[in-house]
Amino acid sequence: MTPTAFDVVIVGAGIVGAACADEFAQAGLHVAVIEAGQIGGGATAAGMGHIVVMDDSEAQFALTNYSQQLWRTLAAELPPKFLEDTEYEECGTMWVAADEEEMDEVRRKQAFYEQRGVPVEVLDARQLAEAEPNLRPGLAGGLRVPQDGVTYPPCGARFFIEQAQTRGAQLFQGKTVIELTGKGARLSDGSFIAAGFTVNASGSWAPELTPGVNVQKRKGHLVITDRYPGFVRHQLIELGYLKSAHSISTDSVAFNAQPRKTGQILIGSSRQYGVEDKQIDPPILRRMIDRAIEYMPRLAKLSALRTWTGFRAATPDKLPLIGPSAIENLYLATGHEGLGITTSLGTAKLLADQVLKRTPAIPIEPYLPSRSMEDAHA
Ligand SMILES: Cc1cc2nc3c(=O)[nH]c(=O)nc-3n(C[C@H](O)[C@H](O)[C@H](O)COP(=O)(O)OP(=O)(O)OC[C@H]3O[C@@H](n4cnc5c(N)ncnc54)[C@H](O)[C@@H]3O)c2cc1C
Repeated sequence: MTPTAFDVVIVGAGIVGAACADEFAQAGLHVAVIEAGQIGGGATAAGMGHIVVMDDSEAQFALTNYSQQLWRTLAAELPPKFLEDTEYEECGTMWVAADEEEMDEVRRKQAFYEQRGVPVEVLDARQLAEAEPNLRPGLAGGLRVPQDGVTYPPCGARFFIEQAQTRGAQLFQGKTVIELTGKGARLSDGSFIAAGFTVNASGSWAPELTPGVNVQKRKGHLVITDRYPGFVRHQLIELGYLKSAHSISTDSVAFNAQPRKTGQILIGSSRQYGVEDKQIDPPILRRMIDRAIEYMPRLAKLSALRTWTGFRAATPDKLPLIGPSAIENLYLATGHEGLGITTSLGTAKLLADQVLKRTPAIPIEPYLPSRSMEDAHA
């Protein structure tokens, strides 16, 4: 069989690979995407789809803020198709403060966001109760970030792949890559797809194809309810979520509830390291649901339809790997932990900026894979 030469071969049609495929196809490159399973069937199918600006570090803020703006631009430029196909909705985030100590954190976050041009609104206890009547009484207040949104992630991945296909990209679905170099991908059927450069966007599987990539699996559980339109209005997150997301050694849970366009409520979330099996972990699930009910007691009366788990691809410094690997012409787009739905669009832009020598909108240095290779050598 004669190898077909593409400009770029992308491994993985999760939301990150899909967004990269669309970005490169838009730039006029001849793109191949290779996906072993379903489009968006990996972590993307398991994710919550919260499009959120985060402030863990300046670099995390820059990438999430840039990406959130890219989601909003698409929603403005491509309605109604984008909104229907991806179920994108700008419902806003409500950070929920349980007590005065957490209100201090609300005010710190408010200052951080406002200094960087992100609109936010501080709510006192009464305003929070009015905005979200199903929260328990007695909470201290909250911080609303109105431009944050939600999407249904596998549909987002499909949307970007279909856009890329209309721009000439070719999808090889049901094909497993067993070897990846900067010159192309060897498939399990023995064929080789040649390219000028390649992108490993295989999420938490990335180290299997590119040894030395420093990502670890971080397991998460989610639950979805039957339809209760209006029960939750914003993406709700307890401020204690930050403690949960920061912990890199212990199992943790935090209250996180999302209104879906269908009227369903998606409830999260848990974080576990060192667990490789996909099985539901009943004690962790129990803790997660108990935490949700603590914040929204009436949730206890609702019907849950399904629960599942997924794996975030976590890096030691909680920033993704976007850029050249140690192998010539092999690029990485992985390590997005719990923010890959949000940052898929920023990742695609920053990767294409590097390859096509365009000027990036934000500094790329914090995300370059070379930083973790330096760590590994140190
Ligand atoms: C419980 C949970 C909640 C989350 N909530 C959010 C959230 O609210 N907001 C947010 O922004 N992010 C969230 N995330 C994170 C987000 O889901 C991920 O960061 C994102 O989906 C990663 O996308 P990806 O394309 O890198 O990886 P994946 O979606 O895992 O895609 C990788 C793809 O590569 C394919 N693949 C792997 N190996 C091969 C191979 N050898 N050959 C061919 N194909 C291969 C896989 O089949 C897969 O489809 C959450 C994650 C979890 C687990």
